[in-house]
Amino acid sequence: MERLVAVENKTSSSNFIKTIVEADLKAGKVSEIVTRFPPEPNGYLHIGHAKSICLNFELADEYKGKTNLRFDDTNPLKEDTEYVDAIQEDVRWLGFEWDDLRFASDYFEEMYNRAVLLIKKGKAYVCDLSAEQIRETRGTLTEPGQHSPYRNRSVEENLDLFARMRAGEFKDGEKVLRAKIDMGSPNITLRDPVLYRISHTHHHRTGDAWCIYPMYDYAHPLGDAIEGITHSICTLEFEDHRPLYDWVIAECEMDAEPHQYEFARLNLTNTIMSKRYLKMLVDEGVVDAWDDPRMPTVSGLRRKGFTAEAIRAFCREIGVARAYSVVDERMLEHFIREDLKLKAMRTMAVIKPLKVVITNYPEGQVEMLDAENNAENEEMGVRQIPFSREIYIEQDDFMENPPSKYFRLFPGNEVRLKHAYFITCQEVIKDAEGQVTELRCTYDPETKSGSGFTGRKVKGTIHWVEASQAVPAEFRLFEPLLLDSEEEDDEKPFLERINPNSVEVLEGFVEPNMKEAAGQDKFQFFRHGYFNVDPKLSGQGRIVFNRIVSLKSSFDAKA
Ligand code: ATP
Ligand code: MG
Repeated sequence: MERLVAVENKTSSSNFIKTIVEADLKAGKVSEIVTRFPPEPNGYLHIGHAKSICLNFELADEYKGKTNLRFDDTNPLKEDTEYVDAIQEDVRWLGFEWDDLRFASDYFEEMYNRAVLLIKKGKAYVCDLSAEQIRETRGTLTEPGQHSPYRNRSVEENLDLFARMRAGEFKDGEKVLRAKIDMGSPNITLRDPVLYRISHTHHHRTGDAWCIYPMYDYAHPLGDAIEGITHSICTLEFEDHRPLYDWVIAECEMDAEPHQYEFARLNLTNTIMSKRYLKMLVDEGVVDAWDDPRMPTVSGLRRKGFTAEAIRAFCREIGVARAYSVVDERMLEHFIREDLKLKAMRTMAVIKPLKVVITNYPEGQVEMLDAENNAENEEMGVRQIPFSREIYIEQDDFMENPPSKYFRLFPGNEVRLKHAYFITCQEVIKDAEGQVTELRCTYDPETKSGSGFTGRKVKGTIHWVEASQAVPAEFRLFEPLLLDSEEEDDEKPFLERINPNSVEVLEGFVEPNMKEAAGQDKFQFFRHGYFNVDPKLSGQGRIVFNRIVSLKSSFDAKA
């Protein structure tokens, strides 16, 4: 698999689908663009769906057209209203509003009637072969398929059997309705594809009204035609299905004539992009829910702290192309940094605390220091943070025996405390096991931040939180949930690709002014990166921060 970053068609003014739309409008083939986003409600939306959503809605917006949200609810076994609700919430959160909300099941009666029409025209027949027999007789790329022994049933017999299928006279799998097209077609999709199957399953909308359900390849074109969709955009796997799509529209004698166009689906490094597998992670308890911050779902990304703006900007940047590619996950991260850079308050959090006592600072004294909220955005103003004799610093900002070029704290070394004073490490306190438990430092009152002190320079600046008012907080740092195989052709079984270190939970402190931080508030913690208050886990005195992304990455989207 080639690792590529899709950089084609970057600007919003060009992509191959827009070229087609513009030509169709110009030629008068269509008077208004109508698109649809057609999810199957069998799981939550993921970042790949976001690409399709942005594409469909933004295309219609740009040409003053319409977009429907249509649930492709033709497989009741796997579908649920929980998913229907979650999908609507996610589409809205991404910033889009549909014109019509539709369900493929709205059209079951019409689809049935069109199937009867096909039978009457001799274009469809009831077949008694099992699913396995149908597969076995379908042929291969080099060999034609075999005719079903039921292919030449009379129209009357087919009408009778199809009505009885609907009436519930047969068990699941006993019969199907197949299109009569061409068992010798080089396109296997056209070798008498199944149009209807029997499934005695309760449907979340139609209840027990139906026990036969249309297949995707039959339901989808009809849904598009019924809604007057002009440009039906799907992913490349359906390219071979396009002749069948056109066949269904033509043979069912639909008035409207939608057209299918295919684009390359989004793939991201180290990311599983399939509802089936994501559901497995939920069902197996690998993650706590569909919106677990490690999930590439829209709800997971939201809970982790991604904004809709960042996701939309990412989708625009990757563009729409027909070439297969795998986008570097760091590109998505680039866009959340860009979005939060000037918006998020920059504060200090200590995620692995080490107590520091400043021995020459007056006991009992607390002073308030000025700290700008965002050094790159003055408009965000200044806050006050307390400073006193006891503070917490990061364990990682101290080393007893540092290597050369280590500029943070070590015995005898002086560093700057961000927004405060220079301190020098004088003494290291350890417990019985030799673990460092506390540092004794001295500070120089002359070096107060903002005082204009120029007497001497220090190389290291570290962050800290005043101890008596520090607010305890939990921090969750993430790594990819799944790791791509190292070897290109070594496709490991899915559950073996799970990264055992996908989350690290740490307990530390934040500044007192963050006591009120609540669901979805976003911050940049000095040196640690961007964090989001987890809306599910926080509350009643507990604050949990999810790290959205660290501050820097080696990836440059513009490179
Ligand atoms: P999955 O395999 O994850 O279940 P799907 O294609 O079966 O995906 P649907 O609910 O049928 O999921 O998809 C709704 C729409 O989203 C379809 O038009 C589909 O082409 C599009 N889509 C799904 N995955 C991606 C992806 N990775 N990139 C772009 N579009 C996608
Ligand atoms: Mg699907």
